[in-house]
Parts: sequence; structure tokens; C-alpha cells
Amino acid sequence: MSHAHTDQVQEDFDAVVVGAGFSGLYMLHRLRDTLGLSARVFEAGDDVGGTWYWNRYPGARCDSESYFYSFSDRLSEDLLEEWTWSERFAAQPEILRYLQHVADRYDLRKDIRFGTRVVGAEYDDATGRWTVRTDDGEQVTATFLITAVGCLSTTNLPDFPGRDSFRGEWYHTGAWPHEGVDFTGKRVAVIGTGATAVQAVPEIAQDAAHVYVLQRTANYDIAGGNRPMDAEDGRKIKAEYRDIWKATRETAFGFPYDVAPRTALSVSDEERQRIFHEAWERGGFRLGTTFNDLLLDEEANETAAEFLRARIRERVTDPEIAELLSPRDHPFFTKRPPLENGYYETFNRENVTLVNVRAAPIREITPTGVRTAEAEYEVDVIVYATGFDAMTGTLFKLGIRGREGLGLEERWADGPHTYLGLATHGFPNLFMITGPQSPSVLSNMPVSIEQHVDWITDCLRRLGEQGYDTIEALPEAEDDWVAHHDEVTATTLLPRANSWWVGANIPGKPRRLYPYAGGVGVYRLLCDEVAARDYDGFARGKSGAATNGRFSGVARARYRELAEEATAS
Ligand code: FAD
Ligand code: NAP
Repeated sequence: MSHAHTDQVQEDFDAVVVGAGFSGLYMLHRLRDTLGLSARVFEAGDDVGGTWYWNRYPGARCDSESYFYSFSDRLSEDLLEEWTWSERFAAQPEILRYLQHVADRYDLRKDIRFGTRVVGAEYDDATGRWTVRTDDGEQVTATFLITAVGCLSTTNLPDFPGRDSFRGEWYHTGAWPHEGVDFTGKRVAVIGTGATAVQAVPEIAQDAAHVYVLQRTANYDIAGGNRPMDAEDGRKIKAEYRDIWKATRETAFGFPYDVAPRTALSVSDEERQRIFHEAWERGGFRLGTTFNDLLLDEEANETAAEFLRARIRERVTDPEIAELLSPRDHPFFTKRPPLENGYYETFNRENVTLVNVRAAPIREITPTGVRTAEAEYEVDVIVYATGFDAMTGTLFKLGIRGREGLGLEERWADGPHTYLGLATHGFPNLFMITGPQSPSVLSNMPVSIEQHVDWITDCLRRLGEQGYDTIEALPEAEDDWVAHHDEVTATTLLPRANSWWVGANIPGKPRRLYPYAGGVGVYRLLCDEVAARDYDGFARGKSGAATNGRFSGVARARYRELAEEATAS
């Protein structure tokens, strides 16, 4: 492998990374500064940040507490010391500044091509190298292709009839104008009530003349409890950082607190209410970790669901609107619950109308507004808070072709097939950071991102030490992982909702649970076991010929052991 000389013109790299958000930045640092490899990052945006570069809508902020929605001590303890978050859940500009700071501190920008979209990546069987093509006509080659393209980076703009006829302004929240949008005195339609709309609507309602919130499915929104962080908060957190980060790596969702080891129906009604209330008061996702069967048992789940509906009834003055805002058609947490800061109270305002587009669907966008089966809403601005073609949407747009020219989209026509969510057979030397069938979006993502990047880094180091430069998932390992993924999924209530987690938001998308539901801590142990057993389930070799490999099913065997240990304790 060649060594990095990043200031000279170069077209052949050890690795090409696509994307410069959390994943791409950390991957570049590891490739270049830890492994001494040459690397090029391509980023479609004009700066680093990924999600936090694109999603600039009013109210955008993280739902993981800032102090653990960041890089851990794996990157650097100094960085943890020098950065202090100003709010419990930082707003988009602060998170973007943080990622810009990381890029500058580690001198990452010099190896990133901004404003450049990867449009093709073809594997050459003869040379064992990837050729990566960009929208500005550049072409480079690399031994390794690493996708850091994000799970939520391809916007979903529903194909409403007449969409382009609208004469007012329209925006998708995931591609928000940098100069912002002035809603003052305007009539606005917001389509969607997911995590994005729940953040944006209260902000827009403060300025707009009127806001129509077009809701198809009500969500279980949890109290966020955002607040400023003072110097004392900062000191306390910094003093505990090592324990905090250790915990995030071991828990189910990558948070520093784990799911309580008790079932919802094992306690009295009063005790359950007390536990829910305490979690509610603390804010954030804690409510989802109060009992260990909320995602497994319908009756248990209903206790949390009803607790949340009662909170809506308390806060929304019109009982009919409160009922409309109360989910009845899916269990709690089978769609990603948004965190809210004043969302429900927004519906007590005179200038906000909740429109039920489940009962009367959107028929078309007209030149002057939105027409549903029942009425026409004349507006000046339409905000599409309609989400993303998650997990696979962006991967497919890369135009990835593996051995014998097989397209990734073709290979995954009936849903993703991966080994550990990191690699896929027929695509040697392709690694996917937070790929489908890894915990990814079912976790506090920086923790999952770091785990993948560190695993890939160790894997590349070992390959080099062993004199290999080619690695490929074995088909039997992949089949085994997909079967395991499906088995774990089937034990949960997650398939029960029409969520983007199962691809239900995109017409024609295979209905599968896309993230892995086995938990962050457990998944890490499985990946470590695979590595410790000399990359069990991967074939390795030289110059494209990956022949040296075996599969003995260590990931699943380890999962069974862990499950037995958990049952015994
Ligand atoms: P991204 O940040 O999505 O970056 C991927 C980058 O790849 C993008 O910049 C994109 O332009 C680039 N790219 C894609 N395709 C190409 C191409 N073909 N060529 C070149 N470049 C390309 N997660 C949490 O855990 N907690 C939170 O609180 C949280 N809040 C969120 C809030 C919002 C509004 C959204 C949308 C997501 C949130 N997430 C949250 C998920 C979030 O996406 C991840 O936490 C994290 O930012 C992902 O980082 P990433 O680097 O993997 O991907
Ligand atoms: P989303 O959860 O997919 O929500 C999209 C909304 O648009 C849903 O209410 C959906 O209704 C509606 N919609 C889509 N197509 C529609 C149509 N044709 N007609 C009517 N309504 C339609 O998208 P999102 O809110 O952007 O959030 C996506 C994910 O990004 C989140 O789940 C979360 O992981 C992440 N995110 C995180 C944060 C944070 O952590 N702070 C903030 C924002 C986003 P249905 O429910 O009926 O499909």
C-alpha cells in the first residue's frame, strides 16, 4: 500500500471515502493518520457536516443529548476537553460548527473534494481496484471503497400530481436554503409529522400568518426537555466522560443509560406510572428504556402508548385535536418517536390547523396550494417534511458495480443482503459505514459510526500485516447474517408499523427492517468475535483474488451465548 502524499496530484488511492459527515471525517482521519494510507473523500455538499450541512430547517437540533452526540474518547480526549456544548440538545448551527472544528483540528479538508458527487463506482475484476467517477468528470481508482453516505441523506419528495405547478415557494427540510426562509406573515402548509416536522412546526408557527399541518400518521412524541447547559454541567460531564463513553458502547441503543431489566407488567399500575413520569420528566429517549419488553410485547407496549396519549390530552385543549394527534394504529417506538419541545401546545394556537390527510388524502398540489379529498388549502409556502429514502436510497445512487459488473441495486432487488451490515458478497473491498442490517439508525449514531470505522481500520491493518489487499464477504456468511437479522426482527414489534425503518415510506421499496435490532453492545461483540477469529466469514487474498477464507458462524454462536447469559442473569 502506498503512503499518503496529500499535497500532490494523485489519482490512485488506497481508499476512496464517499461523504464528509461524522462517518467520512472519522474514516479519513483513521485511514490517513492512523494507518498512513492515501485517501480521497468526495462530498456532494460544499462543506463538511453531512446531515448538519443539509438540514437547516428552523428548530433543527439533535435528539441524542449533545454530550454524547459527538466523537468519543476514541478520537481524542483533548477534543472532549476543549469542546463545550451550549444546550442539552444542540441546534444545527452548533453541531455544524463542531464538525467544522473537527475537520480543521485534524486537517481533514485537504483530502476532501467538496461540491463533488460520486456517480459511479466500478470494481475491476482483473486489477482488483475500484474506479470511482464523479459528476464533474473526475475519475480515480482505489483499492478500498468506503461509503460514508449517511442513512438519511436522500430526500423523499412525494410525487404529488401538480407538484411542479405550485407558484409559491417550496422547500424540503433535508435540503434547506442556507440563507433561511422568512415565514413572516405567510400561509404555510407543512406536509408530514415526523421528527423533522415536530421540530420545525413550533418555530414556523411563531412567524407565519397561518400554518396547516398535514398529518397522515400521528406519532408518539416524547418530551425533549431541552435547556441551556451551564459551566457546571460542562464540568460534571467532562469529569465523567470515560464512564459515559464506555456505557454508550455497551448499551442497546448507544446511550449512556441502558434498558431497565424489568418488564412493564411485572410492576403495579401505580409503580409503572411513577416510572413513566420520572422518565418523562428527565426528557429524551429515557421513556423507551423504562422496561425491557416495550418493543417485544404488545400489552406492555400499550401501557407506554397510553401514557403518552394521556400527556397529549393534558396539553392540547381541544379534545378532538388531541385525539387526532394520538396514535392508535401502531405500537409505541415502532416508528422513530420524535422528541418535542412545545409541539403539542402549538395546536392550541389560533394560527395553526391540524389537517387529517389520512381521512382526506392529498390529491394534488395546485398553483396556489394543496388540495385534499375534502378541501383546498391556499398557501404561500409548502414545506415538505416528508423524510428520506433511507439506508439504501443513497447507496443505490452511487452506481456501485461489483464483480462481473453486477449492480448493487440489482443484487439487493429484494432487500439488502449483507454480512454484519458492513460488506456484501460480490463487492470486494467495499465497506459500508452504518450500512443496512447494522444497528445504525436504531442507535445514537456517532457510537455506531465509530464502531464501524474502528472495525474497518483494524481490518485494513490486519490485511496489510498478512500481506493481503482483498477482502470479500462469503455468501454463506451473508446468508447466515440475513437469517439472523430476520430472526431478531421477528421477535420485535418493529415490523408492525409502516415506518421508514421498514422502507414503507417509499413506493416499491422492499419491506424489510433495514437496521439491525440486536442492540449496539451485542452487535459490537459479534463484530469483534468475527475479527478475533481471523475474519470468520470473509475471504481474503491478493489483487482481487479472495480465496483464503472460512465460515464457522461465530457471530450467531456468540449471539446465542449472549442471549443465554442474559436469560440466566
Ligand atoms: P451524513 O451526515 O448523512 O453524511 C453523508 C454525506 O454523504 C452527506 O454530506 C452527503 O452529501 C454525502 N453524499 C451522499 N451521497 C454522495 C455522493 N454520491 N457523492 C458525494 N457525497 C455524497 N442521529 C442520532 O444518533 N442522533 C440525533 O440526534 C440525530 N439527529 C438527526 C437529525 C436530523 C435532522 C437528521 C436528518 C438525522 C439525524 N440523525 C441523528 C441521524 C444522522 O444522520 C446521523 O447521526 C449522522 O449525522 C450521520 O452521519 P454520516 O456521516 O454517517 O452521514
Ligand atoms: P419521516 O419520519 O419519514 O416523516 C415523514 C412524514 O411525512 C411522515 O409524517 C409521513 O407520514 C409524511 N409523509 C410522507 N409522504 C407523505 C405523503 N405522500 N402524504 C402525506 N404525508 C406524507 O421523516 P423526518 O421527519 O424527516 O425524519 C426522518 C428521520 O430523520 C427521523 O425518524 C430521525 O431518525 C431523523 N431525524 C432526527 C431528528 C433528531 O434526532 N433531532 C430530527 C429530524 C429527523 P406517514 O408517517 O404516514 O408515512
